Amino acid sequence: MTDSFRALVATQAGDRQEIGFTTWTDADLPAGDVTVAVEYSSFNYKDGLALAGKNRILRKFPIVPGIDFAGRVLASDNSAYAPGDRVILTGWGVGEGWSGGFAERARVKGEWLVKLPSGMSSRHAMAIGTAGLTAMLCVMALEAHGLPDKAKILVTGASGGVGSVAVKLLADKGHQVSALTGRREEEPFLRALGAVEVIDRAEYASPGKPLAGERWNAAVDTVGSTILANVLAAMAYRGAVAACGLAGGMDLPTTVFPFILRNVALLGVDSVQCPKAIREEAWTRLAADLTEADLAEVTGEVPLDEVTGLADRILKGQVRGRQVVRVL
Ligand code: NDP
Repeated sequence: MTDSFRALVATQAGDRQEIGFTTWTDADLPAGDVTVAVEYSSFNYKDGLALAGKNRILRKFPIVPGIDFAGRVLASDNSAYAPGDRVILTGWGVGEGWSGGFAERARVKGEWLVKLPSGMSSRHAMAIGTAGLTAMLCVMALEAHGLPDKAKILVTGASGGVGSVAVKLLADKGHQVSALTGRREEEPFLRALGAVEVIDRAEYASPGKPLAGERWNAAVDTVGSTILANVLAAMAYRGAVAACGLAGGMDLPTTVFPFILRNVALLGVDSVQCPKAIREEAWTRLAADLTEADLAEVTGEVPLDEVTGLADRILKGQVRGRQVVRVL
């Protein structure tokens, strides 16, 4: 087995970040205990920030970006994994401070990996990826808080990766899902996912009152900032918002009124350090609830060679749904 492979590598020259394809060997990989032949990766908003050199996502150089991958174990010093096992990696700072999925090979700590659920291919896992996992973690957080049947639920950033999967998962559970989007042209796509209503982002984009009419039992927010503040103001009594993103900004210009007068819960959702047991539960549910065919409408595919072209588009909010990256 040759130990050289193709990798997209970011380096730092002074203050400038440079990125390009090169040949690496196993010796260039970090010192984990499981080496994986990457079959598919995926492209997330955070990958867009990383490739564009924004928000200091990449913290160590040289580094292979790519926060997700799925593939086949090549070598393992970890008793939980053997060569040939199929595995998924999301989170744990991989593709940020540890080389990730935009290369034909990766080496990570075995404790970070999840075994591919039976019946799921690497491509299917990456059509879900960090974004789909995060959408499921939001659904689980809302369910743990308590969701009425046929709840009225708002999903923000609905045409994006997390949002589109959240719309599908919640609609399939029988909830009345409304999709907030800045892209009215995506209305047919969002309705096909199961949204009963599509709301123009502009309705929630300007600073509003501390409390508005009680409209939502629950919400999944991928956007943050003023939009999240307006969502909180429009929650029904004892409603809950699962907040996971900052596509619209990292601030939150709200008041305490939704919390102290309407008993609204703001549930933070993080997929990066999510404990393994919850991750495994989420992946098991995703394997059962979202077939690859279910995701066909949501999923685009690019070869590894074209991954850099996605960064600008995802940061401008122009990428629809999920993008898998074909590595092998
Ligand atoms: P995408 O870019 O695929 O989706 C984000 C969506 O947000 C866009 O498609 C767009 O939807 C909307 N949007 C974009 N810009 C703005 C804006 N300025 N104001 C309001 N809405 C906007 O990203 P992902 O789905 O991959 O990620 C969504 C967010 O969740 C990101 O902030 C990401 O960092 C975060 N995230 C967090 C995770 C965690 O563990 N907490 C894990 C994964 C993602 P539309 O056009 O429909 O309005």
